[in-house]
Amino acid sequence: MCDRCASDQIQDEVHALFMCRNADICALRVKYAYLFSQFSGNFSVEHPYLQQHISAQVVHDFLLQHNNKLFSFMSELMDFVLTGEDQSQADQSNSLAEGPPM
Ligand SMILES: [Zn+2]
Repeated sequence: MCDRCASDQIQDEVHALFMCRNADICALRVKYAYLFSQFSGNFSVEHPYLQQHISAQVVHDFLLQHNNKLFSFMSELMDFVLTGEDQSQADQSNSLAEGPPM
């Protein structure tokens, strides 16, 4: 189950891209709203997430759209989704770096 929102949905790529209700991820969708123009009618500023599952074909089309901002969106989205893991890795490397040499 997704640990970023209260939707009780499995946290997979489709959920993170279109359905997660996490405030940070929703804000990101609003920021990159033009990437979601094909979903106009389903998305709004107040509810920038899909409420029903979409087909694999729609996901495919979204990921293949010709827009160089798609990678910026994906990169920022992954930062949010992976924030917890990144933080613990950063702490580990910090303690290693601060350790005495040999
Ligand atoms: Zn979620």
